[in-house]
Amino acid sequence: MFEGLSEKLQATFKRLKGKGKLTEADVNEAMREVRVALLEADVNFKVVKDLIAKIKERAVGQEVLESLTPGQHVIKIVNEEMVAMMGGSESKLAISSKPPTVVMLVGLQGAGKTTHGAKLANMLKKQGKHPLLVACDIYRPAAIKQLQVLGEQIKVPVFSLGQENPVKIAGESLDYAGKNGHDTVIIDTAGRLHINEELMGELEDIKAVVQPHEILLVVDAMTGQDAVNVAETFNSKLALSGVILSKLDGDTRGGAAISVRSVTGCPIKYAGVGEKMDALEVFYPDRMVSRILGMGDVLTLIEKAQNAFDDKKAKELEEKIRKQELTLDDFLDQINQLRKMGSLSSVLEMIPGIGKQLKDVQIDDKEFARVEAMIQSMTVEERTRPAVIKDSRKKRIARGSGTSVQDVGKLIKQYEQTKKMMKQMSGLPGMGGPPKSGK
Ligand code: GDP
Ligand code: MG
Repeated sequence: MFEGLSEKLQATFKRLKGKGKLTEADVNEAMREVRVALLEADVNFKVVKDLIAKIKERAVGQEVLESLTPGQHVIKIVNEEMVAMMGGSESKLAISSKPPTVVMLVGLQGAGKTTHGAKLANMLKKQGKHPLLVACDIYRPAAIKQLQVLGEQIKVPVFSLGQENPVKIAGESLDYAGKNGHDTVIIDTAGRLHINEELMGELEDIKAVVQPHEILLVVDAMTGQDAVNVAETFNSKLALSGVILSKLDGDTRGGAAISVRSVTGCPIKYAGVGEKMDALEVFYPDRMVSRILGMGDVLTLIEKAQNAFDDKKAKELEEKIRKQELTLDDFLDQINQLRKMGSLSSVLEMIPGIGKQLKDVQIDDKEFARVEAMIQSMTVEERTRPAVIKDSRKKRIARGSGTSVQDVGKLIKQYEQTKKMMKQMSGLPGMGGPPKSGK
């Protein structure tokens, strides 16, 4: 999902990162690209307009344009605003203090209500709850049977009164749940191909009788802009408490579905990612955006790096990396900085393509002390130009630091590898970045 959007935004980000300084025109151009990418992904135009305005307002500020890594700042802002657009943090299911918690699933025909009712029951059961599924779709042929089959599969009982009036079924299911120790009641309702008065009337009646703690709209991520209209209508009639996005596993542009949150203000609580009973995920806006932006752990890394490196040091280091003048003194300094960020290997693991390569550059605390001793046993010349350290010098350094010639050899190898790594890292935002002009 979101492949097209992902690809486009990543291309834009790459161009942003490639610039040392950003002008307002650069930001505008990048925002134009982001806008087009979102519209092509079928995100609602009003939502896009809003989002771009918010990003722009923050991104053309002095602070960003004059920052050390302006491209990175802009990317961070895009990331933050997209997460906000999708609802910020995840929304948990409301749990009633007085059981049973009643969850009503609504939506158009084929959206995935029945499937997701069962998936949700399955998830809750695994969390130790005792859910009851209720068959209130009496219209579609075999709808009851479908729910019963799924219920059997996940070993969750299904309450059904056949073709009885759905309002009555819903009401009686609560009594049944009370008597049989079910703490959660999930009501599967009927859908229609299109919104109609009769359907809405029935849903309002069921709502009035069961007074649900959650009314979740199931929205098929494959439907285009209509998803937004559907959500608006259901929300105005029923006051939804949340949304389940179904079929996110499919080949979908998905933008319409993610617009639903912005347009209705209803949080997306779950995402359906397949037909199987375990194909249900709690919806995490931040993870979804990371996935779309393809940032993965790099974002976490940027944050860690920002916390650990003080600006002046970072700037000096950048300069050295750029000129590839890294000395052993810098190397020592560098290890110290990285140690502040956590273990060196855990930091390196977060950098795509680098972790693997540097398996043998593992420097733990004990080793660090030895590294420090070895470097302190070197002459200034040796520290600045480690290439001059041949066998006899290695022997002297080993003696001076109480280590072995092999240790000294290993250190020099690590230093060479780090130098190579620095070159690679200099392509990453916040880790040196590309050569800066001016300033
Ligand atoms: P309802 O009419 O709203 O109750 O929709 P159903 O639950 O009967 O689902 C309609 C069809 O969509 C069924 O064939 C489901 O297997 C399929 N479906 C539901 N959710 C998902 C999903 O997350 N991913 C995929 N690939 N298919 C789904
Ligand atoms: Mg159904």
